[in-house]
Amino acid sequence: MFAKCGSVRKVRCGQLLALLLLGLAAGATLARASFAAELPPLPQVSSPRLYVFDCGTLINNKPEDYNLKREEVKDTNMGVTCYLVIHPKGLLIYDTGLSDRLVGRPLYENVVDGYGQIKFNTLIGQLADIGVRPVDIDYLVLSHYHWDHIGNANEFAGAMWLVYKGDHDQMFSKEARAYAWFNQYSALEKSRTTVLKGDRDVFGDGTVVILATPGHTEGHCSLLVRLKNTGPVVLSGDLYHYAEERGLNRLPEEEKAMGTVESRQKIDELLQRTGAKLWIGHSMDFFRTVRKSPAWYD
Ligand SMILES: [Zn+2]
Repeated sequence: MFAKCGSVRKVRCGQLLALLLLGLAAGATLARASFAAELPPLPQVSSPRLYVFDCGTLINNKPEDYNLKREEVKDTNMGVTCYLVIHPKGLLIYDTGLSDRLVGRPLYENVVDGYGQIKFNTLIGQLADIGVRPVDIDYLVLSHYHWDHIGNANEFAGAMWLVYKGDHDQMFSKEARAYAWFNQYSALEKSRTTVLKGDRDVFGDGTVVILATPGHTEGHCSLLVRLKNTGPVVLSGDLYHYAEERGLNRLPEEEKAMGTVESRQKIDELLQRTGAKLWIGHSMDFFRTVRKSPAWYD
């Protein structure tokens, strides 16, 4: 269209060009503004609020690894859940799931140890949907260091990392540094870090308590969250994988002498004492039916 601009219409063409450039600039500004406006305000709460995120699904058909027969397990696949607690005194994330980088990749690329990883949503995007940026997170807690729980941990390296020595040492061992997924949590090495001993009441009011449940790994932990309306819940981590492990009293062979038996007993006593519900994050039944972010439990 510019080629057709003759001398008589030069002014009009110049104006048109200026308007077009102005329009483009305004459009770019608007795009930036609307992107920023898409982030809702950070939720303000007067009592703890718990969000559950879809952090992927593992396609797995080997319940034998957990000492269960296939006919004993209703669904052998596993949901992958991440959780955010918004407490009046701060934000805590518990587990960071499968890596956001898996989204959109072909399935054949995403097979680890025989587990197919499926991921449609990013954790970072789900947090943004509720107005939370990684820099807003005050505390990072990983139930343990296995690859389906640490996928996006580097994003939260600015938070205070609460971790048990056994897991910390393992994560930064010479052997672990050679693992493909080391780069997903490597930045935590420089994070502000609190090394835990025993259970830890994070905010000092008993509403968010890290529970030492060693066994699956040496520094494995579960999380007790006391909610005003929902009541207390315990987020299992990998203390259990399938719900059927509870009724049938099964556990992986290698965990029998590692502390899992004692940790399960400790949690059972806590459930009985407090009336808390146990949320098994990998259970497909739980994963399908739990209310996910942007909804919440309070
Ligand atoms: Zn797991």
